[in-house]
Amino acid sequence: MDELRRRFIQGFFILIALVYICRLFYLQVIDETYKLDAENNAIRKIIQVPFRGLVYDRNKKLIVSNTVVYDLYITPKKAKVADTLRFCNIFGITRQTFDSLTHLAKVFSPVRPSLFLRQLSREDFARVQDAMVDYPGFEFQVSALRTYDSKAMANALGYVGEISPERLAKQEETGDDYYRQGDYIGVTGLERYYEEDLRGERGIKYMMVNSRGVEKGPFKGGAFDKNPISGKNLISSVDINLQAYADSLMQHKVGSIVAIEPSSGEVLAMVSAPTYDPSLLSGRTFSKYFQTLNLNPLHPLLNRPPSAYYRPGSTFKIIQALVALQMGVISPGTGFGHGGSPIRCSHNHPVASDVQKAIQYSCNPYFYQTYKRMIYNNTEKNIFKKSALGLQRWDDMVAKFGIGQSLGIDLPNEKKGKLPNVEYYNNMYHGELTWKFSNIASNSIGEGEIIVNPLKMANVAAIIANRGWYIRPHLVKGIDKVGEIDPKYKEKISVGIDRRHFATVIDGMVAAVNNGTVSGDGRMSDIQMCGKTGTSQNRHGENHSIFIAFAPKENPKIAIAVFVENAGSGGAHAAPIASLCIEKYIKGHVDRKAIETKWMNKSYPNLLTIRKANAAAKPKTVSKPDTAQKVDEELFLTTPTVTLPLGVSAQKNTVKIPMSPKKPVNQKVTTPKKGTH
Ligand SMILES: [Zn+2]
Repeated sequence: MDELRRRFIQGFFILIALVYICRLFYLQVIDETYKLDAENNAIRKIIQVPFRGLVYDRNKKLIVSNTVVYDLYITPKKAKVADTLRFCNIFGITRQTFDSLTHLAKVFSPVRPSLFLRQLSREDFARVQDAMVDYPGFEFQVSALRTYDSKAMANALGYVGEISPERLAKQEETGDDYYRQGDYIGVTGLERYYEEDLRGERGIKYMMVNSRGVEKGPFKGGAFDKNPISGKNLISSVDINLQAYADSLMQHKVGSIVAIEPSSGEVLAMVSAPTYDPSLLSGRTFSKYFQTLNLNPLHPLLNRPPSAYYRPGSTFKIIQALVALQMGVISPGTGFGHGGSPIRCSHNHPVASDVQKAIQYSCNPYFYQTYKRMIYNNTEKNIFKKSALGLQRWDDMVAKFGIGQSLGIDLPNEKKGKLPNVEYYNNMYHGELTWKFSNIASNSIGEGEIIVNPLKMANVAAIIANRGWYIRPHLVKGIDKVGEIDPKYKEKISVGIDRRHFATVIDGMVAAVNNGTVSGDGRMSDIQMCGKTGTSQNRHGENHSIFIAFAPKENPKIAIAVFVENAGSGGAHAAPIASLCIEKYIKGHVDRKAIETKWMNKSYPNLLTIRKANAAAKPKTVSKPDTAQKVDEELFLTTPTVTLPLGVSAQKNTVKIPMSPKKPVNQKVTTPKKGTH
């Protein structure tokens, strides 16, 4: 027995010895990698950042490209700086900065590389390159700076910025390891929406390095290296000439322009005013300019077209007319006078004896009566039940126009707006069957609880241009190749209104432009524009001026929405601007030079004064780049009583917009201050 145990123990020790011998043999003879590493830490893994994809316009003009720069990384455990003062002199930083950057890198990871200094130009790189032999643990990586060929379209393009700690943490949750601290990532706009296409694939290079940190060539002849693959290029649907022109028309103003090609849903231009030079947010000056822009009371960092909130005003009457015709509660020849409506017209006009004239003159009582017929278009006897059922049916039809829905544009932060439903009014009036038509009558003329954004209204213009359908608006018509896009951007969506009803409404829009609510500056003799004005009440003072249109009448090439905040009536302000954009796009040039000059120079100084005063009364908040958009949205809600604490995401909170009195007793219907035409 003893013998057996003795042999067993002997055998056990021999086995262990064998394992050790084998391991030693492997380490010393076979595995070169480990040998090198054991002696000098001598394999250097170099991450190669690919170039970000480029952005072209619809005519293949380059909009966004890259300039090569160099980023310096530190790996704290390997880093040795014998003479800190000299190092600081070479890179032009203070000792304090050096200490703080080194500390941050150590906190992140002692063994993984952290960004130390970013975006040294080619010249700077050449100057410091030789000195790097004395600083092991520091290495350069080629990087790139977003470069813009024009100053147009800053907000829709978005910017690229350093990845936030929150985003890095999110990556760790998902097990993805693409990003490192200090990496650049698309923060807003197309840069964010198409981040995964634009960023490309990282490369890895293994280099042998001697004990002094000098590179001795690729490890195993580069057998394990992986080349970086550049990001994919975006072919935008935007016409950069039209975009720049529309940008210039919106200078000195606050608002939006969205132009869409109706047949394809391709966005031709998307202006958010005020705008900024996109190159300000590219590179080392980012922090400086970001803060300035973020504190601007006019919110240049808010991409208004998909994100700002407005009431549609009288532009909504087009939808009312179409839905009413489809329901059969009116016919093209139905007329209404001014009598019996608590919502009045502030302007004199011939009797709205049919749908066409109602649109031409933007008659408020006409649409009050029409909406009433729609809401009461059922057999319920109880007036409250009748109203609730009527609203639900009306909602279902209006929602098909995208009102209160997300259109699914390829941009972050698209807001749905609001299409109030039965539940909404039950909440507002504290219970079921507590409200009736008179409580919601302001919706007749787009002045009630309905909230839209300029993108949505440009899409409504496209729906009418197409006589009943749309393709989801989108800003990219190809990834690397035209047509390579999400299939959802090819699908025709019907709004459920018979084609024949559009003829009536379109005739009204032609008449509104030629002999209706549109001022002379908005008329063109050689292009048939079909349009509808809107004037939207808001808490900031003067009404917002709105105009939606398409042209030409047959085979429309462009649909457009123009919003000019606090400018006044839609026909006098937004319509001329829309007409200039349409002329520019269809003809390639503008013949009406005097009108062009007038509207380019037009400004609204009162608006600026009011906004600045409002902003001064509010505590200033500097937000981080990631949260900028959210904070801006909260500040910018244009409806009367919305208050959200700064720094709280609007998406996480239900935004309640009680614009009618809480109690339905003695309900007064909104009568426009200056008419809603
Ligand atoms: Zn009227």
